[in-house]
Amino acid sequence: MQIFFMILWIFYLFMIGATFASFFNVVGIRTADHISINRRSHCPKCDNTLRWIDIMPIFGWLINGGKCHFCKEPIHIKYLLIEIFGGLTFVLSFLVCGYIRYDLNFNFSYQKIIRLVIYLLTVSLMMIIVVSEYEHHVTLKKVTYVFAPILLVLSVFTGKDVFLSSMLGMGSMLLLNIILSLTNKDLIKYYLYSACLGIALGFFGAILTILLGGLLYLIIKLCKKEIRYVYYISIGAVISLFTNQYLYMLIEKII
Ligand SMILES: [Zn+2]
Repeated sequence: MQIFFMILWIFYLFMIGATFASFFNVVGIRTADHISINRRSHCPKCDNTLRWIDIMPIFGWLINGGKCHFCKEPIHIKYLLIEIFGGLTFVLSFLVCGYIRYDLNFNFSYQKIIRLVIYLLTVSLMMIIVVSEYEHHVTLKKVTYVFAPILLVLSVFTGKDVFLSSMLGMGSMLLLNIILSLTNKDLIKYYLYSACLGIALGFFGAILTILLGGLLYLIIKLCKKEIRYVYYISIGAVISLFTNQYLYMLIEKII
């Protein structure tokens, strides 16, 4: 029975994450385009207002077979992928913060809950930034103006050790951003985004992100291709966010 509840809980969280991702997708695209986010979703080809079933995260795309219900114009798979990404990152955030357990023995201390909120805000910020960069090559700096102070204030309440680690993480990510912007001035616009990632990642997570991002950069370079800083730092950060605490425990055990 407990397993049944756990699966139901995971499915519920996944759908909540997918719904948020669908919304962040709209925020990322429309804010960069200066279009109101209040307008109901419509097909860009035939302009028909979408039905509730069409805008349902993941299922909307699957039920319509990846096409507009009205004009049959293909809907890009990226919309489905961002919703799956949102669902997965929400589930993983709850998992690493200890809110998916067989024994339902959750830790409801405010520090743990704040940690979870920091994770959810960070993955949300990542989705908005990456979507706007991908769709419009625009960095939504004003979104980071909102997220950065919230994350900073929240981190104060995570407990002395976690807070200290968050500050070191923020410093490391900022330092990386400043060093890289010496070679490419344009990169300095990501300073608040880097700071936000550092707060959520903590010191070890930030170092892991820098290593993963650097490795990805080298692989892409070897393939004679190029991706922007924001992508490799975001990919490194998302992997690090959900693995760094397990890796840290493993290293601690070995040493
Ligand atoms: Zn259409």
